[in-house]
Amino acid sequence: MQIFDTHTHLNDDPLWDQTPQYLQQAQQLGVIQMAIVGSNAKFNQRALQLARHYEPLFAVLGWHPEDSAHYDKQEQERLITQLQDPKAVAIGEIGLDYHWSQNPEPKIQQAVLIQQLELAQQFHLPVNIHTREAMADTYAILKDHLPDKGVIMHSFNGSEAWLAKFLELGCYISYSGVVSFKNAPEVRQAAIKTPLNRLLVETDAPYLTPEPHRGELNQPAFSRFVLEAIANCRDESLEHLAQVTYQNAHEVYGLNEKN
Ligand SMILES: [Zn+2]
Repeated sequence: MQIFDTHTHLNDDPLWDQTPQYLQQAQQLGVIQMAIVGSNAKFNQRALQLARHYEPLFAVLGWHPEDSAHYDKQEQERLITQLQDPKAVAIGEIGLDYHWSQNPEPKIQQAVLIQQLELAQQFHLPVNIHTREAMADTYAILKDHLPDKGVIMHSFNGSEAWLAKFLELGCYISYSGVVSFKNAPEVRQAAIKTPLNRLLVETDAPYLTPEPHRGELNQPAFSRFVLEAIANCRDESLEHLAQVTYQNAHEVYGLNEKN
């Protein structure tokens, strides 16, 4: 079994410094590669450090909307330099988050998102998109600034109607442990309706731990259980979905071209 966790944070404090242990546990469940996702200067630097050191790890680097007020010219220069690394495979996580009142105001978030979408186009990289309570604005901005190497909607939790619109833009749709939660039938419905060639799987560890491990700290190994939840609701084999989502991950992150 080959599973690719397309969005995980071994660079985040709760999981930091225990990479060999998490890699071993992941391998035992067939999770053999993963993308470590940054969100600001500290976590981008750590993501790149991990990706350079461990062969199965790749780095996704960018500025999260929560940190967008600190993204200035100097940080942009640093990001551009980091993106030259052969293990840097995408820009992310970037997007819009209107949930927290202490987040930078929408105008700032939107400007920083657009700047990074333009970088993605310039450097021919895909993007990993975070969106929370901002579906309409995220869609409108993506539609006008669509990078040619593709878009991953990370931990998708939208309705079937939104799913259709993002699919129309050609986005990949990545599901996290939320798809296994009892109280998320809408997300399962979206997972059923997502075409196989757009489907991805992720943990977003240390957050969003899937059933049957809810309550524990999440880790990349658990993308196996996310995939099982999708396999159950779609009535497909785990092996087949593992193979398909692994290939999709390689496609969007450009790993086929690099091999
Ligand atoms: Zn994340």
